[in-house]
Amino acid sequence: APAVLWFRRDLRLGDNPALLAARERGGEAGVLPLFVLDPAVWEPSGDARRRFLVGCLEALRAATGGALVVRRGDPREVVPAVVREARAASVHVARDVGPYGRRRDDAVREALSRLPGGEGGDGEGVPLVEDGTAYAVGPGLVTKDDGSPFQVFTPFSRAWRAHGVPDPAPTPRALTWARLDGPDDLPAAPDVDADLPVPGEEAARAAWKAFRDERLERYADERDRPDLDSTSRMSAYLHLGCVHPRTLVQEATARGGPGAEAYVRELCFRDFYADVLWHRPDSAREAYKPELAGMEHDDGEEARRRVRAWEEGRTGYPVVDAAMRQLLGQGWMHNRMRMLVASFYVKDLHQRWQGGARFFLRHLVDGDLASNNHGWQWVAGTGTDASPYFRVFNPVTQGKRFDPRGDYVRRWVPELRDVEGAAVHEPWALPGGTPEGYPERVVDHAEERRVALSRYESVRG
Ligand code: FAD
Repeated sequence: APAVLWFRRDLRLGDNPALLAARERGGEAGVLPLFVLDPAVWEPSGDARRRFLVGCLEALRAATGGALVVRRGDPREVVPAVVREARAASVHVARDVGPYGRRRDDAVREALSRLPGGEGGDGEGVPLVEDGTAYAVGPGLVTKDDGSPFQVFTPFSRAWRAHGVPDPAPTPRALTWARLDGPDDLPAAPDVDADLPVPGEEAARAAWKAFRDERLERYADERDRPDLDSTSRMSAYLHLGCVHPRTLVQEATARGGPGAEAYVRELCFRDFYADVLWHRPDSAREAYKPELAGMEHDDGEEARRRVRAWEEGRTGYPVVDAAMRQLLGQGWMHNRMRMLVASFYVKDLHQRWQGGARFFLRHLVDGDLASNNHGWQWVAGTGTDASPYFRVFNPVTQGKRFDPRGDYVRRWVPELRDVEGAAVHEPWALPGGTPEGYPERVVDHAEERRVALSRYESVRG
C-alpha cells in the first residue's frame, strides 16, 4: 500500500526525514504526496502570501512529476478521505509545533485511528507518523539541566550549540510516486503588485548559494543596514520549508568566520522562539510576561486614522514609511525596520502589539507565528528577554544610523527622491519645508514618547 506524505511547512524533497520514512513504508506502491489547502490558514493570508505558497506548490508538483495532490478543506476530513481513496497504510508528516497545528494533528491522528487500516483492514487504524520538524533542533529538546525550558535567549543559545545540530538527511535519488485521480484544488496564484521571491526548493537553494558565496562573509558587519540588501532573504523559504535550517547551519559553519557565526546565531533565534511557543502556546496571543497587562491604549477615530497611516506608509516619518512600503512592495521587511515600525506602532501610536502582529502576518511572505509574535512582544516589552518598555526607538536617529545616506528611504518613498543624503530623514527641516506630496507627521515623536513612558510608569506603580 502507498504511504501518504502530507506536506505542510516542508515543501521540499531534499533533507526531508518524513519523505525518507514514507518511501520506506510505501515500498513499491510508492509515496502519495498530499497538500491540504486549509481555509483556516488560507483565508487570513494576504495575496502576496497566497501567491508565494501557490508558487511553491507548483514547484513541488513539478518536482514530484505532477503527482502532488492538492485538496481544499478541513484536514480532519480531507486526510482520512485521501487515505481511503488511495488505500494507503500510513501518513507521514514533519511534527508541527504551533498551537493550531498541534490541535489539528491530534484530531487527524484520532480520525485516522478510526479507519479500518491498511490493505488488510486489520482494524488498527492508519498511523500518523512524525519525523523531523522545521527547526535545526526540534522544540522541546534544548532544556536547562533540570529539564525546564529556557526563558532567555543567550543561555538557550549556549545549550543549543552544546546539543548540536544534526546533519541534513540524505536526498533520495530514485522515488516512486503514487498517483490519485480526483479533484485538483490548487488555485491559480493571485496577481499581486509586489516583487516576491522566486518560489520553490530550487530557487531557495540558488538564493542560499548566492548569499553564502557573496554576502555571508560581510553579514556580521552589514546585517543591520536596510539600504544594503545584506541579509540572506531566506525567511520565506524557511517558513514554508523550501529549505531546512539544518542545511544552512551546516554550510554556514563550514565557511566559518564572524559572518557565519552571526548567521547561525539568527537561525538559533528562530529555534528559540519556536521553543518558547512550544512550551507556552498562549504566548502567540497573550503577553508572555503579563506585567504590562493594565497598560492604557488609544482607540477612537483619530487613533484609527493614525493606524491606517502606519499601515499605508504615510506617517510622515520617512524611515517608518519606507519600511511599511517595503512590506507591501515585497512581502518582506528588514529586521531593524521591523523593530522600528513595531516600536512606532506600540509606543508612538499606543496600540496593543497584537494588532500590529496581525497586520504583519497577513502581509509578510515569511509571516510566522513564533518569530513574528515574539518579535512583537520583544518590542512591546512583554516578551522573553524583551527590550525594556522604556526603550523607545527614535525614527529620526534610527534612520540616520542604519540608513546613513538615505538610500533606503529614497528607494521606497518617491516623494522624497530629490532630497539628497541623510537630510531625507527630516523632511520637515528642509529649507523649503516638507516636499509636496509627502505627508505631515501624524504624531510628534517626542510628545508620544513622554505619553508612553508616563503610561508605563503608571502600570509599574
Ligand atoms: P537574515 O538576517 O538573513 O537571517 C537568517 C534567518 O534567521 C532568517 O531567515 C530567520 O529565519 C532567522 N532570523 C533572523 N532574525 C531573527 C529573529 N529576530 N527572530 C527569529 N528568527 C530570526 N521572522 C520571520 O521569519 N517571520 C516573521 O513573521 C517575523 N516577524 C518579525 C516581527 C518583528 C516585529 C521582528 C522584530 C522580527 C520578526 N522576524 C520574523 C525576524 C526577522 O526580522 C526576520 O527573520 C528577518 O528579517 C528575515 O530576513 P532574512 O531571511 O534576510 O534574515
